[in-house]
Amino acid sequence: MTAQNKVKILIVDDEAEARETIGDFLAEADFGVETTDSGLKALDILKKSSFDIIISDLFMPEMNGIALIKEIKKQGIDTPIIAITGIGTIENAVESMKAGASDFITKPFNISQISLIVEKTLETKKLKQLASESEFYKKLSNSDDLTGLANYRYFKEILQQEIDRAERYNRTLSLMMLDIDNFKSCNDTFGHPVGDLMLKQIASQIKKNTRGIDIVARYGGEEFTVILPETPVEEALVVAERIRDSIDKFVFETEDGEKITHFTITIGLSSFPDKVKSLKELIETADSALYKGKNSGKNCVVLYSD
Ligand code: GH3
Ligand code: MG
Ligand code: MG
Repeated sequence: MTAQNKVKILIVDDEAEARETIGDFLAEADFGVETTDSGLKALDILKKSSFDIIISDLFMPEMNGIALIKEIKKQGIDTPIIAITGIGTIENAVESMKAGASDFITKPFNISQISLIVEKTLETKKLKQLASESEFYKKLSNSDDLTGLANYRYFKEILQQEIDRAERYNRTLSLMMLDIDNFKSCNDTFGHPVGDLMLKQIASQIKKNTRGIDIVARYGGEEFTVILPETPVEEALVVAERIRDSIDKFVFETEDGEKITHFTITIGLSSFPDKVKSLKELIETADSALYKGKNSGKNCVVLYSD
């Protein structure tokens, strides 16, 4: 391992012998080791460089280990800290954990204990990092994996924004709920992977027949939704009919060019504020119009009316 990608450990202990024992052992095990004899110096070192682990004694003059741990945490440095404590002073270990230490080792040193705790600390650190990264990217993602359309979460966010805007400026917006007709039989006949491919093609047909400012989202399963900002319901009807017609005419193919039976889609339509007064009602009414379309033979566009 090169010096640059070695795991870096800072050892803070006022006793030279302890510093050397741990330092030599860890350097031998191929860690990048730096040592210092006081808490204040440690804080200085931490200003200039970062470490993967800090190992700190608890009993030191000037600044003791607990104070050092608290200061490191206060500065927002999230490097795990392992406290060194005398075997008879386990209360101090507890105290250090409360202050934010992730583990402790006891004096006199048992070398195998040190390496075990260091390994365990690194493993925990890695897991935490992976968990937070995946959480971060999940939150960041606004799109549906399969179709690349907006996902449900993003759809809700945009719809609320659009409703707020329409309310503030006294504008109109329309909402479409779309559900593929008899899609279950596509899966049953051709299998789920072909079903997925068809979903992608239908998604892109919907997208193709909407305007750039419309938000097309996958609502879930084989249901889609389109937000049409600045659009009164009569105009939305035209767009909905265009989508319905384009899917009705489209010839769907598998990856190897095999022709698949054609699909149809049913669309429910509602608008804000002429039909409803809230986001919830807007979705519900578009949904009930869709349901009505399903009950009256499918492959149609239904406008909500109360
Ligand atoms: P209807 O005309 O009443 O809408 O009939 P339908 O068969 O489309 O409706 P239903 O809601 O009963 O079934 C929807 C089917 O869509 C069930 C499920 O197999 C399929 N489906 C949902 N999500 C996916 C998906 O991500 N991939 C695939 N391949 N199929 C899906
Ligand atoms: Mg369906
Ligand atoms: Mg459905």
